[in-house]
Amino acid sequence: MKKNDSLFIKMIFLIMGIFFALGSLALYLINSSNLVLYKIILSIILIISFCLGIFILITAIVLIHVFKKKDIGNFEKVYLNKSIRYVYLGILNLANLLNIDKNKIRGVFAQINNRVVLSTRVKIEPEYILVLLPHCIQKSSCPHKVTTNIENCKKCGQCNIDNILKLKEKYNVNVFVSTGGTLARKIIKENNPKGIIAVACERDLSAGIMDVRKIPVVGVLNERPQGPCINTRVSVDKIEDSIRYLLGKE
Ligand code: SF4
Repeated sequence: MKKNDSLFIKMIFLIMGIFFALGSLALYLINSSNLVLYKIILSIILIISFCLGIFILITAIVLIHVFKKKDIGNFEKVYLNKSIRYVYLGILNLANLLNIDKNKIRGVFAQINNRVVLSTRVKIEPEYILVLLPHCIQKSSCPHKVTTNIENCKKCGQCNIDNILKLKEKYNVNVFVSTGGTLARKIIKENNPKGIIAVACERDLSAGIMDVRKIPVVGVLNERPQGPCINTRVSVDKIEDSIRYLLGKE
């Protein structure tokens, strides 16, 4: 068995062990006359439920404020920065359980992340700004390999790469086209950016934001006039606005 396979099996046994332990404890409490232990366990459950309830309530109040207001306050920014990932994971799992379209949840998460990131004043040198594009943004019939080097684009204007390349020349920022999460992580590691502008669909964007924790990521959703993963488009104006923001010009 490979190392990762055995880790997976160990995790399953761990979860099973936790359930068995909880079941045994419940069985013991049902049959036991030990009222003190019964009360201690109930108190612990009560405290955990209470803390979780307070956490969810504060998050809901903060989010309602953020959705209603144009500007985000300092407390809201710091609170959401710390908590939104956990809340997002919980809501995403719940949406999965209730068969709700997860892309709606992912889109809102990316939007909240942008609000938090864009409410912080930054000034990043252009060489530390990285624009990450998905390869589906390139015209599918284009023979030029822009994933190895975006400069291979011949600027024919048939896809957005042309205008994004002009932004690269105008602002002197780094622009890469990635074929997926692994290459995107490699590009980030090699370029060591201080600010990222990521263009992707709801799914890849939210996964990318979850992946990159210490660098501000501004997400720009792509448009899919021909369906997912083929000849996608993006608002070049939104990318330019994001570059200007990270440069401290907005
Ligand atoms: S703009 Fe560049 S990448 Fe897009 S189709 Fe033309 S040559 Fe290919």
